Amino acid sequence: MKIISDLHTHTYYSHGKGSPRDNVLRAVELGLREVAVSEHASGNIYYGVRGKKLERLKEEMRALKREFAGRIDVKTGLECNMTGFGKSDIPKDRSEYDVILLGYHKGILPANGFGWHILFESFGGKSTPRRNAESIMEAADKGKADIISHPNLYLEVDIPYMAECARQLGILLEVNSSHVSLTPEQIKTAHERGAGLIVGSDAHRAERVGDLKNALASCAEAGVLEHIVNIEW
Ligand SMILES: [Zn+2]
Ligand SMILES: [Zn+2]
Repeated sequence: MKIISDLHTHTYYSHGKGSPRDNVLRAVELGLREVAVSEHASGNIYYGVRGKKLERLKEEMRALKREFAGRIDVKTGLECNMTGFGKSDIPKDRSEYDVILLGYHKGILPANGFGWHILFESFGGKSTPRRNAESIMEAADKGKADIISHPNLYLEVDIPYMAECARQLGILLEVNSSHVSLTPEQIKTAHERGAGLIVGSDAHRAERVGDLKNALASCAEAGVLEHIVNIEW
């Protein structure tokens, strides 16, 4: 079994500790084929990377792609935020990004009434799993997201429904190794409904890039390890 990529990593551009280069170096050391720096998008009040800082990050990523060409595929990612029903901060022009993750997070500015629900539920309010799943899959479809990050974290989602949509749209569901947000039963259900599954570290330090221990343990318990898209056998 070989892990071929880690597409969910953060750096000091948001609230992580290392540089994008540190993350790439760690991924090279582990023998990964692909690594993404997928910083928090602008809609996150606390951690969002925007303006000049975002331009600097994109420039740094372009330089890393050149420097590591032939050794590892360096990807510019972005972890976007749900801001309302069917609404997110996925950029209109996503041509500069190789991979878009989309998830529910705290600390967003509500774009509509459902945006207030996101804040309310993420701080312990009443849960609406079916609507939460409908909302994020609509936004993921509109913005052409590649991966739903940590389903069930902060807001509960209807996993069977989400997995059906993910299958139809070709969007992957993440099994996150920092936040164990899915039970083995839910992982199994998602796979049975046809959703593609990807493991991601959500590393906030270079040492944790490619550390997929928790995610792999849950996938093993669910009996789906051989179906994870970023594992090769
Ligand atoms: Zn996240
Ligand atoms: Zn993250």
